[in-house]
Amino acid sequence: MSGDLGGPEAQRAARRDEAVRAAVEQGLLGPEAPIVGLLDVAGIRESAAALRSAFEAVTAPGTPVLHAFAVKASPLVPVLRLLHEAGIGAEVASPGELALARAAGVPAERTVLDSPAKTPGELAEALSLGIAVNADNPQELERLDALVKASPDTASPLGIRVNPQVGGGSIEALSTATATSKFGVALRDEGAREWVVSAYLDRPWLTRLHAHTGSQGIPLALMAEGVRETYALAEEINERAGRRQVDTLDIGGGLPVNFASDETTPTYAEYARVLREAVPGLFDGRYGLVTEFGRSLLAKHGTIVARVEYAKSAGGRPVAVTHAGVQVATRTVYAPGAWPLRIAAYGGKGRPKEGPDVVQDVAGPACFAGDLLAAGRALPLLEQGDYAAALDTGAYYFAHHYAYNSLARPAVHGFVARADAGVAFATVREAQTVEEIVAESGAAHVDALTSMR
Ligand SMILES: *Cc1c(COP(=O)(O)O)cnc(C)c1O
Repeated sequence: MSGDLGGPEAQRAARRDEAVRAAVEQGLLGPEAPIVGLLDVAGIRESAAALRSAFEAVTAPGTPVLHAFAVKASPLVPVLRLLHEAGIGAEVASPGELALARAAGVPAERTVLDSPAKTPGELAEALSLGIAVNADNPQELERLDALVKASPDTASPLGIRVNPQVGGGSIEALSTATATSKFGVALRDEGAREWVVSAYLDRPWLTRLHAHTGSQGIPLALMAEGVRETYALAEEINERAGRRQVDTLDIGGGLPVNFASDETTPTYAEYARVLREAVPGLFDGRYGLVTEFGRSLLAKHGTIVARVEYAKSAGGRPVAVTHAGVQVATRTVYAPGAWPLRIAAYGGKGRPKEGPDVVQDVAGPACFAGDLLAAGRALPLLEQGDYAAALDTGAYYFAHHYAYNSLARPAVHGFVARADAGVAFATVREAQTVEEIVAESGAAHVDALTSMR
């Protein structure tokens, strides 16, 4: 698959190279615009289509399936709009994310609210809009009780989030189904399962059940086990209710992404097949489905490209000082072992750099020693005026700015590579200006502290 030069993965890599060159040629990247985020529009559409067809292939005809993109993975309005047009809804977890989804035109019935710390105001807003809500815990369920009592004909589908506690993966911070994970009702804790079942029996309006057990670093089989446990719980509730009270299962997101090569692995189709094998009853048409994939829809379609401002050497090791560091690759800089990124070297005209591999550091612009995109990486030697690209950064990277050193949020551009007409770009987000940084840093309150006595 990856060796096939005409395959979708090779095509994606070729589009990326074209886009980097065109960004330099068209002046989106250069001495005065030394960092940019690029999004491959065709690639995003491909992933959305792959997700939809993977589940169409395993579900009974007519099964309602809502794929809700986890907005936190790429909180950019044009991205949400593109996904909406491609048949993907939105999973939101804060007032900000809900506002982004609404700004993108995602309708309430294609939106799911999941956060672990919803205020009474947020819950009331969601119910008045008709947005699906999954209660995280008993206290939240009490708030829903009051809201449903006040407006019994809310259009919001309501459910409870459970943690099947099937175990974690290789990245502790992202393991949502460990025994002590903060999310949902911990199903294997003493009395918890019985509490959940009675909660449903007491509330005929609870019709959904939610679990999100996967994330980067979790094996597919473990994800499927979490879904199987959730399905078994829904079956138990429905049996005890004597009716099909739970009519929809929200199986969360969390398909891992391959950061080691251009290959897309695992695929949605593989995951859907693993799920059908592990939980056949989930797909026989008795349950509607909601999914909440984030990283796997966007990661491979984003690239950070940064100019090499200086090339130096320290202790015998070459160091390329670039404009991409902790502000756009926070996880990689602080946890390089868990989040290594591939780096591609481009010359000053934006063409892939040739030459023997040289072990070097690729550093960022922030003022602390650990601000490295990659340490001891073998690459063609990066020189002043070249470009370093951090690949697979379409989710949880350049859209997740970290304001260290008051470094500006870079511009983000979507691109389409057209066979004969070159590469076209569209602005997704403007670069943050220095004036905006000053304003957001309290400039309007300049005398706030000195005036205190
Ligand atoms: C983060 C999150 C997701 C998406 O996870 P990915 O690993 O990006 O696919 C889905 N659902 C919930 C509840 C989440 O918190």
